[in-house]
Amino acid sequence: MSQVVRTRMAPSPTGELHVGSMAMLLKNYAWAKRNNGKFILRIEDTDKVREVPGSLEEIKKVILDYGLDWDEGPDRGGDFGPYIQSERLEIYKEKALELVNNGKAYYCFCTKERLEQVREEQKANKQAPKYDKHCRHLSAEEALSRRKAGESYVIRLKVPENKTVVIDDLLRGDIEINSDQVDDQVLQKSDGFPTYHLAVVIDDYLMKISHIMRGEEWISSAPKHVLLYEAFGWEKPVFAHIPIFLNPDGKGKMSKRKGTVSSRSFLERGYLPEALLNFFMILGWAKEDQEEVMTLAEYVEAFDPKDMSSKSVAFDMKKLDWLNGVYIRKLSMEELKEKVAPFLPAEFPTQKLDKILPLISKRLVTLLDINELTKFFYIDETPETKLLLKRSDEAGVIDQLEKTIELLSSIEDWQTESIEKVMRSIQEKHDWHRGQFFMMIRLAVTGRKATPPLFETMDVLGKEKVLARLKKAIAQIS
Ligand code: GLU
Repeated sequence: MSQVVRTRMAPSPTGELHVGSMAMLLKNYAWAKRNNGKFILRIEDTDKVREVPGSLEEIKKVILDYGLDWDEGPDRGGDFGPYIQSERLEIYKEKALELVNNGKAYYCFCTKERLEQVREEQKANKQAPKYDKHCRHLSAEEALSRRKAGESYVIRLKVPENKTVVIDDLLRGDIEINSDQVDDQVLQKSDGFPTYHLAVVIDDYLMKISHIMRGEEWISSAPKHVLLYEAFGWEKPVFAHIPIFLNPDGKGKMSKRKGTVSSRSFLERGYLPEALLNFFMILGWAKEDQEEVMTLAEYVEAFDPKDMSSKSVAFDMKKLDWLNGVYIRKLSMEELKEKVAPFLPAEFPTQKLDKILPLISKRLVTLLDINELTKFFYIDETPETKLLLKRSDEAGVIDQLEKTIELLSSIEDWQTESIEKVMRSIQEKHDWHRGQFFMMIRLAVTGRKATPPLFETMDVLGKEKVLARLKKAIAQIS
């Protein structure tokens, strides 16, 4: 590719970064890296009403927390800055004026009330709501005198009439639309701020963006953007409108109503960034013979937006869980220890972590699972009495418990092997039903049916706790 590849992500600081945006960011990142190009982060903050304080910082942080980064943008600089739109207002004003002066845009003085009235009439006539081009033919003199008189105005694009607008989309081929369907959109608002459409086109051009990969929800804006490139006489970038995720159940676009969608929330639930990135890689994209588990470097090597599916895919939580397990299993115990640390509650017996972790690590789906899987090590959980008595009766179980307590009390060096020896010998000696006996002990000692191996667990729990719990079980059933 002779052209320098420059891609971008252009989030608005209106809240947390959606997982769909992170997945999109990954594609833009990978394509830039694959071509030795640059990935740019631009902040689109011209809509001050919708801005949420702190979200810019959070967006930057979560990108880094996912293990990604940007080459140009806030905190990184670059030759095409500033990269925050609210710091570029003069540029937009100058460019909007350029369009007016070239007869490609015009001043519009229509009041809100008038626009409202037009819309009502169109609605009554079952027409699509559109600006009726009332001010399109005002003379330059009239526009000037009205502006001088202090009338409020916006600048609108003079959309050419009856012209075929072609969006050449990498995933969908040519999308054609007649310009008569496109509104004479506002480019500059009455407060002097640019609209998204004006700012995005100017910035993508001035920042020399070669490929725009964004969510398919922007397709409807693309004709407006194409018309703007043409009005300026600028060469267009490559467009790729990428399908957005559907809810995990495959119904409807992924939305808050069906669960959390912010990129941060997945980290907070204990998904590893590597697993999340890998998941985003394979959702809706595959090269021939591509393994599902791959590193970022392998993805960068292989990714081509052309290979993306143009169909939406569900955010398949089962696959994400599976991948997370794969990545957790790749960690050394030391690494895992570090990663689970933030998920441990204050009351967790940290001095026992080295022994507990190997016992449960295979069952972790997310890091957060450590909580549920290890609670019984430090919290007494009471099993149902009827479970303790399963396949036996009160007297029988109490007898088993008493004999076991007596024998375990005599163990001097409390460790897995000695515990196992004692437990097996007592079961054999009395010819107790093996399944019944060990399950009863497991329940009494942990409160649960499913736990890590029993003798290891008893070892880690410690003699005192094990004996106390066995005694508690006697009290419970007698
Ligand atoms: N600021 C837009 C957003 O919040 C960017 C859209 C685009 O990529 O053109 O997603």
